[in-house]
Amino acid sequence: MRPAPTPPPTATDPVREPWRAPMRRALEEAERAARAGDVPVGAVVLSPDGTVLATGHNEREVTADPTAHAEVLALRRAAEAYGEWRLTGCTLVVTLEPCVMCAGALVQSRVDRLVFGALDEKAGAVGSLWDLVRDRRLNHRPEVVQGVLAEECAALLTRFFRDR
Ligand SMILES: [Zn+2]
Repeated sequence: MRPAPTPPPTATDPVREPWRAPMRRALEEAERAARAGDVPVGAVVLSPDGTVLATGHNEREVTADPTAHAEVLALRRAAEAYGEWRLTGCTLVVTLEPCVMCAGALVQSRVDRLVFGALDEKAGAVGSLWDLVRDRRLNHRPEVVQGVLAEECAALLTRFFRDR
């Protein structure tokens, strides 16, 4: 009898594994932000069947818009594509823990799920400083999966601030 093959590392993390591919897509978006001089944060909204509905990256510097965070842009575009402000069944995938504004926006959008990469200990509103999306006083609380490709997501930010 042959020994059982070593399971691939992905098999040890069944919660995060399904979100790695869309997080890679969000990382590509984050890189686009960095190339334009914006802090590299990228987001993807997935439709209920898992296809990419919309993408966004931080465009605060490029558009001089304080609300042009990756999540807000991706949610707006997703709603436009969906033809409906309620993104029920959808998943927002973002490279960095959302801020207060974006956590608020994703609650307002009614997405079923938030998936994020790196923690933002300075401004995070999904566990770090606040936990807006799981506040029981709100009527909509999306499921949260965090730490997906967290090292890659954080490394992109570290590199951006180091090279400035
Ligand atoms: Zn934000």
